[in-house]
Amino acid sequence: MAEGLLGRIGGRGHVPTKDFAVAMSDQEWQRKLSPAQYRVLREHGTERAASSPLDKEYGDGVYHCAGCGQPLFASSAKFNSGTGWPSFWAPLDQAVETQTDRSFFMTRTEVHCSRCGGHLGHVFDDGPQPTGLRYCMNGAALDFRRQEKPPEPGGAEPAAAG
Ligand SMILES: [Zn+2]
Repeated sequence: MAEGLLGRIGGRGHVPTKDFAVAMSDQEWQRKLSPAQYRVLREHGTERAASSPLDKEYGDGVYHCAGCGQPLFASSAKFNSGTGWPSFWAPLDQAVETQTDRSFFMTRTEVHCSRCGGHLGHVFDDGPQPTGLRYCMNGAALDFRRQEKPPEPGGAEPAAAG
């Protein structure tokens, strides 16, 4: 049977009840984040195009989640998409997860931090090589740490014993 079709119809409706490693109440997030960060990360808002200084940032460093601090993108994967939002062709290993977003009468792929579930932006398939992907991110969701070296691929910390 057409599994792809079923998958599309069913939508696999990822209910956002998943437990993330970093979980806080709305009130706690509101205290921790700026209003702009909160609107993007916790309410799936989108900042105005070209409003983030990180859109024009091309220095070396690592982009972290503004919610929980997890490293998400290396500056080496950043490119100028001309959209007005910081754009990357690949995230760091296991840093982000995606789900289908059917809001605004469009079907898009939503991108969130794998550690706290904070909304980052969307991913589109019109990016540059080698991946052909364009991770269109909200600068408000990112915390750029200049000169920091990205973690080694696959060199993630071993699962905490006990
Ligand atoms: Zn996070």
